[in-house]
Amino acid sequence: MKLQVLGCSGGIGAGNRTTSLLLNDNLLIDAGTGVGDLGFDALVKIDHVFLTHAHLDHIACLPLLLDTVAGSRNRPVTVHATQATIEVLQRHIFNWQIWPDFSTIPDSANALLRYQVLETGDEVILPGVTIRALPALHTVPAVAYQLDSGTASVVFSGDTDDCTPFWESVNAIANLQTLIIETAFADHEETLARASRHFTPRRLLAALGQLRHQVDIRITHLKPADHEQIMLELLRDNGTSFAISRLHAGQIITF
Ligand SMILES: [Zn+2]
Ligand SMILES: [Zn+2]
Repeated sequence: MKLQVLGCSGGIGAGNRTTSLLLNDNLLIDAGTGVGDLGFDALVKIDHVFLTHAHLDHIACLPLLLDTVAGSRNRPVTVHATQATIEVLQRHIFNWQIWPDFSTIPDSANALLRYQVLETGDEVILPGVTIRALPALHTVPAVAYQLDSGTASVVFSGDTDDCTPFWESVNAIANLQTLIIETAFADHEETLARASRHFTPRRLLAALGQLRHQVDIRITHLKPADHEQIMLELLRDNGTSFAISRLHAGQIITF
């Protein structure tokens, strides 16, 4: 399995793309602005989109992706998400006002957009990979994902605050190789981070006390204004033995 980082920033601006990961050639985890760097031939290959939650930085390119490939595909794009997330998309995005309802285009029986509900604990088995929805804790309903190739797993936290069920799920993964986890805000923004249910370095380092595996930890979703400060705070004498590094757009994780 090859997981390519298309975007992993908590904002936009030169060089920054919001959250999206491409698994092999045909599956996206979230559909933030990083998707916009893919060429048309790559966009047409996307068969599945797994969404962590409905926030704009994670779905921004989904409507534009569908519009771009409409007419060039003979099978649907399946969007996997919780019922709550799907309802937000239906009500607020694909409502014929913000964007056309691609779940009825060209008609309901042959629609380009197909929704597939998955809730925490569910798994989707696809060729070469099993994807499991794990608990997360955010201001809106959200999940994390485990991508399991059979020999190794990568966990992507999505947007989350500290969440004991998340750590319990992660600790139960025997073949865990890499944990991609967010740290959106620097320590001086802790009030905002708590209110918006994101991690700060201090709170992530404390939460890592619950992690029982020695795994590679990659940090994502850093707010551009404080990205250097966030990494400095994470890498200071942090009292943990984990290998922590920053995720970058363009990185490829094989597992
Ligand atoms: Zn969010
Ligand atoms: Zn986000």
